[in-house]
Amino acid sequence: MTTTETTSAAADTALQSVDPATGAVIATYTVADEAAVRAAVAKARTAADTWGSLSFDDRRRYLLRWSSRLVADSKEFCELIHKENGKPVDDAFLELMLALEHITWAAKNAGKLLSPKKISPGALMANFSARLEQRPLGVVGVIGPWNYPVYTPNGSIAYALAAGNTVVFKPSEYSTGIGNFLADAFKKANPDLPEGVFETVNGFGATGAALVGSGVDKIAFTGSTKTGKRIMADAAATLTPVLLECGGKDAVIVAADADVKAAADAVAWGATANSGQTCAGVERVYVDRSVRDEFVAEVKRILSEVKPGSDDKASYGPMTMPSQIDIVRRHIDDALAHGGTAVLGGPDSIKGPFIEPVVLLDVDENSEAVAEETFGPTVTIRTVDGVDEAVELANKSVYGLSSAVFSKSHGLAIARRLRVGATSVNSVLAFAAIAGLPFGGVGDSGIGRIHGEPGLREFTRPHSIAEQKFTIPGMALLSYARTDSTMGLLRKMVPFLYGRHK
Ligand code: NAD
Repeated sequence: MTTTETTSAAADTALQSVDPATGAVIATYTVADEAAVRAAVAKARTAADTWGSLSFDDRRRYLLRWSSRLVADSKEFCELIHKENGKPVDDAFLELMLALEHITWAAKNAGKLLSPKKISPGALMANFSARLEQRPLGVVGVIGPWNYPVYTPNGSIAYALAAGNTVVFKPSEYSTGIGNFLADAFKKANPDLPEGVFETVNGFGATGAALVGSGVDKIAFTGSTKTGKRIMADAAATLTPVLLECGGKDAVIVAADADVKAAADAVAWGATANSGQTCAGVERVYVDRSVRDEFVAEVKRILSEVKPGSDDKASYGPMTMPSQIDIVRRHIDDALAHGGTAVLGGPDSIKGPFIEPVVLLDVDENSEAVAEETFGPTVTIRTVDGVDEAVELANKSVYGLSSAVFSKSHGLAIARRLRVGATSVNSVLAFAAIAGLPFGGVGDSGIGRIHGEPGLREFTRPHSIAEQKFTIPGMALLSYARTDSTMGLLRKMVPFLYGRHK
């Protein structure tokens, strides 16, 4: 890595990491081409033999040492996250804290959840012992986004490592320094491990595409739906399995019996924190007409005080990816052109890389601001007449990542009607901080789950083993030695075993 600026001729071989608040170049990295990606995967494949054959306890020790290293280096790390990603230092610390919770959970639970299990062989195979063993896949390629550059990829990295795989990680081109800090901390914490347990390859989309085609045993991708679809198509060529954590258009339902102040507080934060660049952030609200005015007034009151910036007092930072600013502008314009009213902010809220909160009321449901992922500090609020209408509109999206419900007495019942992977009741985003709960979406939000037990299983292949312990005379089912009397016995047993229920 050097800190010199690149020329445009070198643009496809070098990657500049930039401070999104100022545009200043922070560092320059060499872009990994196809050969470099293959070399990293080969190194990870060699290390997989050592890492995969360690006991769960050994891997747990290495992962927890990594966590301790990250804690020891947290000040330096959070400053880098602030600089390269733009989010306030406190938000960087909260993100790191969540990632540490996941590393620890995966490290401590992998042994319990993935150890071999005895399975009942059933009456007809009673002479067998049956076992289900979970084996690591080998090398997992992880491709990450920039919005939560520590927490999000760790939903795959930590769980894949805990399950016994080695990892080759391609961080987003907007968070390359952060991704490399994470991998360097693992190496620093564990100097006795062979190289290749956790490697990074740096670059743009082409480096990610090279990783998809490199022969890894699974791709765990987090990013936009558009890229996710492309990766799934590319991975089909080698039948490489994919885990896709993609975009969202998360809805919040505020029912007539909601604690309106609490709902407004959560929506104001959930819609604008991290400059709205949160996959499971609040993008749409459906509020019951009876509490609409109070709710809107409270959201407006809170967000009037919320300001973006890059100083200590900023509530959130700049837009990390400059091209996203145009999308936010287009959505605000489209909302206003489709019957919406801006009750706070509007097109003028976009000030360079910073966007002040924008609240849009009763926008047409077909407008881009309601139908597409905005990924900015804006929120649409629609008035509804009752829970049925709220549920119907919330479920109308092509996305189905997560959601939230505010209701004092029907929260769970409403939550169960939503077509999503996760729901917070009387809160927003709470499920993402509970490591034991799986996270992932349906529809255009993706395939598969990170976190929790399903998140560990994503990185294993079940291996079923049936061992014959003894033979039962006259019951050679899997042999040409089967006799007529065996068949006669079976014909008597089958109605007894399977045919008694009316
Ligand atoms: P993106 O799709 O632009 O990029 C994600 C990653 O894919 C980057 O590392 C990029 O270099 C790589 N990439 C691009 N083209 C590729 C290709 N052809 N083959 C392989 N890799 C390729 O997404 P982004 O802008 O970095 O992230 C924002 C998106 O991520 C939003 O849509 C957000 O909702 C989503 N996201 C989802 C979750 C989740 O858990 N569901 C979490 C965070 C972010």
